[in-house]
Amino acid sequence: MKTIEQKGMYQKFPRSGKDTRVTHYCAGCGHGIVNKLVAECCAEMGLQDNTIFVDPVGCGVFTYYYWDAAHISAAHGRASAAATGVCRARPDAVTIAYQGDGDLGAIGFNNAFQAASRGEKFGCIFINNSLYGMTGGQMAPTTLEGEKTTTTPFGRDPALTGHPLHVCEVFSQLQAPVYVARVSVADTKRIMQCKQAIKRLFEIQRDRKGYALLEILAPCPTNFGMNPLKAAEFCMNEMEAEFPLGVFRDAEKGVGGSRSCATEGGADAQERVPPVSATLAVKPVPRFSSCAELFGVPDGVDAPPAVDDPSVPERRFKFAGYGGQGILSLGICVAEAARLQKRHTLWFPSYGPEQRGGSASCSVVVSGMPIGSPTVEHPDVLVCMNQPSYERFVGDVKRGGIVIVDSTVPITKHPPEGVKLYQVPAIKMAEDFGVPKAANTMMLAALRAFKATGLDDEHLETALCASFKKKPQLVEKNRDLLHRAEAALAGA
Ligand code: SF4
Repeated sequence: MKTIEQKGMYQKFPRSGKDTRVTHYCAGCGHGIVNKLVAECCAEMGLQDNTIFVDPVGCGVFTYYYWDAAHISAAHGRASAAATGVCRARPDAVTIAYQGDGDLGAIGFNNAFQAASRGEKFGCIFINNSLYGMTGGQMAPTTLEGEKTTTTPFGRDPALTGHPLHVCEVFSQLQAPVYVARVSVADTKRIMQCKQAIKRLFEIQRDRKGYALLEILAPCPTNFGMNPLKAAEFCMNEMEAEFPLGVFRDAEKGVGGSRSCATEGGADAQERVPPVSATLAVKPVPRFSSCAELFGVPDGVDAPPAVDDPSVPERRFKFAGYGGQGILSLGICVAEAARLQKRHTLWFPSYGPEQRGGSASCSVVVSGMPIGSPTVEHPDVLVCMNQPSYERFVGDVKRGGIVIVDSTVPITKHPPEGVKLYQVPAIKMAEDFGVPKAANTMMLAALRAFKATGLDDEHLETALCASFKKKPQLVEKNRDLLHRAEAALAGA
């Protein structure tokens, strides 16, 4: 057996926070448990030097920091397609694709389904937490009927958005898969069962038997809006009622058949019509005549329409830093100020793996005329709060543009010619003022002090205050911090 020379992709995980020993997963997240089990199985079975993982896009994207084996990172939904290539190119290796329910059940469903149908020789670990975790909790194909997500705020209504997708039940109808099972990591007993199932998945790949799918029900406390204990209960009570656990197919052990869904326990999955949970009973979705009504915004009061003014040039901004530094809020603040000034404006966040602990960024465009595209490739103004963002974006700034960077960031790269660089001690000032979380307010002060936005100071201040609408106790504090920071920058 040849071994794979490449080990983990990275030795370091650049991210916010001082303690980099903890994982990027939220407390109580099922991914963390599964990551540990996979690592244990791989190591205990002596397969670490002969395993190639194919990583997804989603909360599980950073597995390449945790599993010290060979990795390939696939585009969103393409892990099964990439795994097909890997297992054909390296039939001597163990290939494992790791996917979430958005990744496998939605955008990548056809790739995964066709790979299963062809009986490709790889194992697929499929994490089902009933929604899109990384991007903020939108509805996924696996969302339960009646479950509230950010895109089904009144609960999923099957009349509008269909029924939950049962991946194991569908895949076990195919001829080729040798193993299809569903487990959970919601409590200790289930975690032990899950480990056995992961071992079985590795065994099948080690012995070159064929395609295997392991679905794992996992809690997502953050997007369920629950503490870890309640999220685990939701997983056991609500999710298992819809997605029963069991082995749907294990060809070697004679469980299930190509046209049957009999589980190890003998129950017939086709007869198991899952009950619609009592707590998640589907309620009729209210109808609204306008977006303003839906969001409770008084029409025409809070939203002055933009006024066309060809004399106002378009200005493009990029804001970047670590998740948690308030970088997206800073972008919203500038866009809101532009809106108050009756400019056309767009705010566009970047949803990538950065959302889970690395860098985050957003683009803002402000113009006197309607805007064609919200994406910003060459900003006029770049605001950076960390080194990875600075290195990534500084070369893109337009001639005549401005870069405002936190002074903790080492200037390893110089901005292009004709671009002005300001180093602002935003993080230090915020710490010195006793409010470390207000580094973004310090950056807003810098934007005002350097006249970087082309917007009125008054509107920027109103927008800052409006961003604390839900925490009114912070409005005056941030207004005060803004003025103190401006005074400090003026005196610097
Ligand atoms: S958002 Fe959900 S799935 Fe993603 S890391 Fe947090 S708890 Fe886990």
